[in-house]
Amino acid sequence: MDAQEPWQWDEPVWRGHVDRVRAGQRLAPAWPGGKRVAVAISFDSDHETIPLRDGETRPGKLAAGQYGSRVAVPRILEVLERFGVPSSFFVPAVSALLHPDEVRAYAAGGHEVAAHGWIHERNTLLAPADESDLLARSIDTLEKLSGTRPVGMRTPSWDFSDDTLRIALDLGLRYDSSLMADDDCYELVADGVPTGMVELPVEWIRDDAPYFMMERFGSLRPYTPPRAVLQLWIDEFDAARTDGGLFQLTLHPHIIGHRSRLVVLTELLRHISSFDDVWFATHAQVADLAGAALITPPTT
Ligand SMILES: [Zn+2]
Repeated sequence: MDAQEPWQWDEPVWRGHVDRVRAGQRLAPAWPGGKRVAVAISFDSDHETIPLRDGETRPGKLAAGQYGSRVAVPRILEVLERFGVPSSFFVPAVSALLHPDEVRAYAAGGHEVAAHGWIHERNTLLAPADESDLLARSIDTLEKLSGTRPVGMRTPSWDFSDDTLRIALDLGLRYDSSLMADDDCYELVADGVPTGMVELPVEWIRDDAPYFMMERFGSLRPYTPPRAVLQLWIDEFDAARTDGGLFQLTLHPHIIGHRSRLVVLTELLRHISSFDDVWFATHAQVADLAGAALITPPTT
């Protein structure tokens, strides 16, 4: 049946693919305290797991991942504390097990720890039972290390499978932050049925990786100067504030934590903090507020 080319699909087939996971109602609540814009900063603490996920075990690759935990995270936590910004850290379980003190430091700093797969696996390459098992084990691992059970997740590499939403619902998660159908939060709809799951949308534009990644033996090179990225994110924030919406950002310690790039985070937070109508919140806090705005609450 799948041997058909897409141009041969009947309407129910292409419509079915589109409807599998869809954006439902927009969830754009009033922000607490009459604030005008919500700012949700996140870090994917991948560290060594991206090379490990690919079976890449060269010490050189793993050292670049270790930099994230060893050097970048302490710097980042200091900047967040300086500006009083609660953030969300999405941590693959293997990364958490390699760096348990780091996970405890997130919790001690008042930050959210949320799920990001087991070893940064690609969900679309997995059987549903394996995807479910890995996510369940990763949630249990983070709960054990951080002291709090995660309520949200981000799929590793934003690789969202046909089964990811059902698995996340079965495991009791309240939000996902991997999809891109809006600037504001929205409810996820599965095959036409509202699920009550909140999506806190991401975008490559608001992600450090596309601007700064470098691959020695490939063609990938950083192509945007850090201060150009700063201006881009300031423009994103300013427009979100004008709209009264959400500014969400995805960063990676091993990427943003280098000296010349930490300037970007520091100056961005300095710009955002210059306004007194900003609500800094974790992804869980934003998702909970958005979830409370659901017109039809889930029946479960
Ligand atoms: Zn990641």
